[in-house]
Amino acid sequence: MTIAFESTFSSLPESLFSPVHPSAVRQPALIRLNDALAAELGLDAQWLGSAEGLAALSGNAVPDASTPIALAYAGHQFGNFVPRLGDGRAILLGEVVDRNGNRRDIQLKGAGRTPYSRRGDGRAALGPVLREYIVSEAMAALGVPTTRALAAVATGDRVQRETGLPGAVLTRVAASHIRVGTFQYAAVQGDVAALRRLADYVIARHYPDAAAADNPYLALLDHVVRAQARLIAHWMALGFIHGVMNTDNMAISGETIDYGPCAFLDAYDPAKVFSSIDEMGRYAFGNQPRIAVWNLARLAEALLPLIDETPDAAITKAEEVLRGFAPLFEETHLQRLRAKLGLSTPMPEDAGLIEDLLRTMHEGQADFTLTFRALSQLPSDETAPTDLADLFSDPDRLTAWYVRYRDRLRQEPASPEERARAMTATNPRVIPRNHRIEAVIRAAVEDGDYAPFHALVTVLATPYADQPAHDAYAAPPAPDEAVLRTFCGT
Ligand code: AMP
Ligand code: MG
Repeated sequence: MTIAFESTFSSLPESLFSPVHPSAVRQPALIRLNDALAAELGLDAQWLGSAEGLAALSGNAVPDASTPIALAYAGHQFGNFVPRLGDGRAILLGEVVDRNGNRRDIQLKGAGRTPYSRRGDGRAALGPVLREYIVSEAMAALGVPTTRALAAVATGDRVQRETGLPGAVLTRVAASHIRVGTFQYAAVQGDVAALRRLADYVIARHYPDAAAADNPYLALLDHVVRAQARLIAHWMALGFIHGVMNTDNMAISGETIDYGPCAFLDAYDPAKVFSSIDEMGRYAFGNQPRIAVWNLARLAEALLPLIDETPDAAITKAEEVLRGFAPLFEETHLQRLRAKLGLSTPMPEDAGLIEDLLRTMHEGQADFTLTFRALSQLPSDETAPTDLADLFSDPDRLTAWYVRYRDRLRQEPASPEERARAMTATNPRVIPRNHRIEAVIRAAVEDGDYAPFHALVTVLATPYADQPAHDAYAAPPAPDEAVLRTFCGT
């Protein structure tokens, strides 16, 4: 038994990647294997859980069909261009074609040094591995395009960060690991032929209908702009903050990638920042759409030589495509928030109603997730139920808004039961809350206790369900539990 790896990325110019070999770890131990994802990928979960499988998932053995590589990329980190980043602690084992015919990358994160490691050790600490496993799988269950976690393995080695920490390897699955920064890297090399090969590869792999467009490279940009507009609208409808939206952390496929100091909002606040390294609030919750456009403009710049031979003409064309982001984002975001409020027939007053709710939530420090969930479960009477009002520091303001909302609902064709059902399927009960994640990591790192991790992953697999077992996980942090800062941990 092994894995039927292919490596189409290796057919691209050699400047775009480096052959590498994972470095062995001392004592690999499986923490968790994602059986459902293994099945989706057509992999044998039993084999993956065997000693041979564990050797592959820890980097101690390379499966026969794999030719491991590390990908080169550049990127703007907090606005500053770094011409050479690349997979410094990630190794691409190869691609598999899943049960639905989709090509997916399988990558080991934390499997040792590569030519792109700079001063890093190529390793991952246990905490960030568990965090990425929890949040990426939660995002998938919430319905958000995302990379996935196939497995987490403890290495038995220590990694040195601010203190010594247990090491781990995450097996990450992605539609591909090609980023905005991959194009920036190809562009900054000044090799237009290589850039074109990369663009053609991405079109064939992710956006095949762009090939038939008058200008395939402009169509490629348009596809990525649209995928990102939809993705960010989805994040914003769930209260997700990525935390490090550098151009090297934005996937061309439109999947959420690189879960570092990411977090979900508890109380609604558009200016919310969790990441300890985001001192200027560049990646604040409400800033995410603006940053996405900024990143996409960097992609557009990289593509300019392919879009038109005449630079000015290329810029004009690219700018027009970039201008498509804002209206699509606004429309998608409004649609998602309408759905969260159970408004199935668009009315002109909806945008204002939504805006006023968000303002009331902000002023009343109401929990983002619980407010929408409480609204989903309203009895069909006229007063706001206490479990909703209790979420607001000033319940009277909520009551005033609620009267308008009830009036608006009278224009809806759906019965209250139908509406509640639809809203419950859109407004999750449980999200991966920071204080829960921190508690899970603490138990694993300090006591070697993975039970809280498994319990959290299990609950987050059905985020829209109403199960009594979810009660504690649904609750926001008590004041002394609130997490104020999140860390990359790299
Ligand atoms: P990130 O902040 O995770 O997006 O990573 C930014 C860059 O730093 C990427 O090029 C990573 O590959 C690299 N990097 C992060 N952590 C490590 C590490 N422990 N060893 C080597 N490179 C790393
Ligand atoms: Mg990254």
